[in-house]
This record gives sequence, structure tokens and C-alpha cells, in this order.
Amino acid sequence: MAHREPLNANQPRYRPLCHPRVPLPSPGCHPLGPIVKLGAMKPAAFIYHSPSTVEEALALLAGLEDGKVLAGGQSLVPAMAFRLARPSDLIDINGIESLKRLAVENGALVIGAGVRHSAFHKPVEPGPTGRLLARVVKHIAHYPIRTRGTFCGSLANADPSSEWCLTAATLDATLVCQSASGRRELKTSDFFDGVMTTTLQSDEILVEARLPLLPPDARAGFYEVSRRAGDYGMAIALAAFRVVDGVIAEPRLGLGGAEDHPRRIPEAEAALLGSAPTPETFKAAAEAASAAIDPLEDSQTSGVIRRRLVRAVVERALAGAE
Ligand SMILES: Cc1cc2nc3c(=O)[nH]c(=O)nc-3n(C[C@H](O)[C@H](O)[C@H](O)COP(=O)(O)OP(=O)(O)OC[C@H]3O[C@@H](n4cnc5c(N)ncnc54)[C@H](O)[C@@H]3O)c2cc1C
Repeated sequence: MAHREPLNANQPRYRPLCHPRVPLPSPGCHPLGPIVKLGAMKPAAFIYHSPSTVEEALALLAGLEDGKVLAGGQSLVPAMAFRLARPSDLIDINGIESLKRLAVENGALVIGAGVRHSAFHKPVEPGPTGRLLARVVKHIAHYPIRTRGTFCGSLANADPSSEWCLTAATLDATLVCQSASGRRELKTSDFFDGVMTTTLQSDEILVEARLPLLPPDARAGFYEVSRRAGDYGMAIALAAFRVVDGVIAEPRLGLGGAEDHPRRIPEAEAALLGSAPTPETFKAAAEAASAAIDPLEDSQTSGVIRRRLVRAVVERALAGAE
């Protein structure tokens, strides 16, 4: 049996995600006793704030040079552990009740900054949008990560392969960014600005995303290729369209993981519009998407392979639309 030192009032105690300047708990309050000395924390030192209103959080951000919002912590905390991120202050928004709103309002799904991935495990509304989101969410990481990570945190993090970034881009979401001096509403084309880069200002919080609901008769499909279940996708496609008088109307075709940020591909949508929803049409749209991209290249995936993956995911997303 492992030996544990008895509690010692003079010994420093492990305080996850806290700054040494924050007072330590009273001696003996941690049931496990001393685990790691403060100096051995993996992240660089930071000050932790836990505001209970958006206004309080924004006032804190406005007064800090290097403050960062902490939402689910599923991207930020690992980055801090590797010291790739070294914020002076963390503004934890998890205690702000008003940010946990998830509601349908004026034909759009309003997703507050506190809404976690797991909220979408079951359809959040009875139409095609709710069903699509429930299909997409299963591809994001693993269950424990989905119980902490947030929809808006994914958008702010702007990974090119993020499933929610692709969803927001394809459904033309409106992103509401708020600072102490006001609010602005952005479309994703004005928000995503490259690999893990957005136009969100350092004193702003992405307080909510508004996803316009798909029409009730819309068919929607999603397909992702990743190396292992739960990994970020190497190429992902999201498709939605209606069929009116036997031909495709209002097509939407978005790609993620293929370029430096997800976006709709107008060339593929043009190949779909007004055509019958047949395998030949889907193949033509897939060819158009593959030709239209400026492919991301990395050590494991060349541009040629990325184009092939894009062809496959587009064709399968369209064929699987329901
Ligand atoms: C093993 C693993 C696998 C993963 N796989 C996937 C995957 O397949 N697909 C995928 O999409 N994600 C994946 N993720 C990431 C996960 O989805 C994160 O939850 C997500 O990227 C960030 O959301 P978060 O709420 O955890 O944000 P945090 O980690 O708290 O923050 C991320 C960044 O966004 C900023 N931020 C967060 N919220 C806001 C806000 N409301 N306003 C302003 N700034 C904000 C933070 O300051 C920080 O810079 C994975 C993570 C892990 C650890």
C-alpha cells in the first residue's frame, strides 16, 4: 500500500489551475493531503477569476493585458500545460448562468457561450437541424471531452478541422461578440481568419452563436475521415439541400479540414443547384469541391491526398443526406 505523508500545516498544497498569489486553503482541508508542490505546476503561473455576470467578465478582460477566457478548458488547458499558452489571467465563464442559454428564437438556434458539446447528443429541436447536430457531435473528441468543451469555445479556438466551425460556416451562423464597449455581430466569413485565428478582439467574449434553422423539408448529411475515432478530421463535409419538383434547391456544401478554415464551396453548390439528387450529380459536386480548394498540406497529408479525401467526403455527405 502506498505510504502517504501525514498532513503538515507548513507544507504547500497542490491547487490545480490556481496562482500562488491566491491564498491556500486552510491546512488539512484537502482530503488527499499534499500531492504536488506549487512550484511543480505544469502551466506557467496565472491569476484565476470567476465572475458571475458577463459585465463583470468583460470589465476584467478590458483591464487585463493578457487575460484569456476559460470555457470548457479542453483546448486551452492542454496548451497551458505545454506552456504554448501563458496567459497572465484566466477569466472562467463557467459560473455565468446567462451564458448557458440554448433556445430557438426567431427561426434560429441560439447557443450561449456556456453550452457544452454534450447538449447536442440528443436533438435540441425536432427539425433537420437538431438531427444534424446530434449526428455531428459524435465526431467531436471523446465523451468526457464533450461534457466539458463548449460550442462557442470551439469557434473561438478556430481549428480548421473543428466540426462546429464547419457547421457554423455551412449554416451561415451569426456570431455575437461582446466587449465592455459594445456588441458586434459577425458572419463566419468575417470571423475565421486562418488556422486557429479569428477576428475576435482580446477584450471580447463570443457570447452566443445563432444558427439559422434548416427548412423542415431539408435533407442534411455529414461525413468525416479521421485517423482514429475522436481525432480531428483530415477532411469533413457537411451538406444540406431541399428537393423541389425533383431537383435540388437551396444547396449548402461546406468543407472543413481541407483549407485553413472551414467555408462553403460555391463551385460545388452550383453543381448541385437545379440537378436531380443522383449519384452522378453528387460525383460532379465532389469533383468541383476537390478542384476548388487551396488544400492544407502537412507532413502526413499532401495536397493531392487532401483533394482525394475531399472528393470522398463530399460524395458521401451528399449521398447520406436524410
Ligand atoms: C483529446 C482531444 C481531442 C479533441 N478532438 C476534437 C475534435 O475532434 N473536434 C473538435 O472540434 N475539437 C476537438 N477537441 C477540442 C475540444 O472540442 C474543445 O472543447 C474545443 O476546441 C474548445 O472548447 P472549450 O470550451 O474547451 O474552450 P477552451 O479550451 O476553454 O478555450 C479555447 C480557446 O478559446 C477561447 N475561448 C473559449 N470560449 C470563448 C468565448 N466564449 N469567447 C472568447 N474566447 C473564448 C479561450 O480563451 C481559448 O483561447 C479535442 C480536445 C482534446 C483534448
